[in-house]
Amino acid sequence: MVKVELLRYTPDGEKLIAAAARLCYSPIGVNEIEESLNEEKVESFLSLLMDLNHESPIEHVTFTFGVEGVSRTLTHQLVRHRIASFSQQSQRYVKLEQFEYIIPPAIANNKRAREIFENAMKEDQKNYNEISNLLFNEYYSKYINLNYNEKEARNKAEKESIEDARYIFPNACETKIVFTMNARSLMNFFKLRCCNRAQWEIRELAILMLIEVKKIYPTLFKNAGPGCINGPCPEGKMTCGKISEVREKFMT
Ligand SMILES: Cc1cc2nc3c(=O)[nH]c(=O)nc-3n(C[C@H](O)[C@H](O)[C@H](O)COP(=O)(O)OP(=O)(O)OC[C@H]3O[C@@H](n4cnc5c(N)ncnc54)[C@H](O)[C@@H]3O)c2cc1C
Repeated sequence: MVKVELLRYTPDGEKLIAAAARLCYSPIGVNEIEESLNEEKVESFLSLLMDLNHESPIEHVTFTFGVEGVSRTLTHQLVRHRIASFSQQSQRYVKLEQFEYIIPPAIANNKRAREIFENAMKEDQKNYNEISNLLFNEYYSKYINLNYNEKEARNKAEKESIEDARYIFPNACETKIVFTMNARSLMNFFKLRCCNRAQWEIRELAILMLIEVKKIYPTLFKNAGPGCINGPCPEGKMTCGKISEVREKFMT
């Protein structure tokens, strides 16, 4: 099951954005601007900014998430968001003695499909173990013959065997990732990935992330969500056709 934790965020972020945005139109310096901003002013200025779509000042505020219990299918989609920084658990360095996997709900709910899927996962693990053992023996002998000591030969052989054996693993493989996005990039992420057109798993993640950031900065994220909550559906012919339902879900 997907687990999302908001690990860090820019403190006092809404005030920072309001101050940065005000600086654009003000003859005074940022310290003076910050002193003049109380909570009420921050909220009303930020609200105006969000309605105007003046987006560059919101890049000053960043959020770092820790995510676990997701598939490599999801992270492949996630890392396509270039305006972000990522650190993901490596299959080159971490040997998966028993890999965890994500079962899509449609497969989990179909008895025969689930059986086929689970058998394939078992087979994958078996093949991974077999291939990594075969390669390990080969590399170990090679390094011993090259006069490495036993410990060094073992370490090198272990790494080199699992980095190739991992090619057998499926997209379903569970993974862990830490990533940082600024608020503007997050808005774009929510627009694309909270949408019904996004795949169920990354949509689930995006909605959980949106809940987390809204708790921290409700004004900043007041218009965040799929594209259709702020205007017509941007998906054109591919629309899910459920605009009222989607708006109701995200505007409450
Ligand atoms: C429903 C759905 C289906 C998809 N299907 C496919 C698919 O079939 N195949 C596929 O390959 N991808 C697919 N994608 C991925 C998609 O094309 C994007 O790569 C992904 O959503 C990241 O979005 P982004 O580029 O806006 O984000 P980011 O990379 O974070 O970029 C944010 C914004 O910065 C600007 N930007 C960033 N880099 C550049 C640049 N080099 N030049 C100009 N402007 C830039 C753009 O305005 C961009 O929107 C799909 C995405 C969704 C949501």
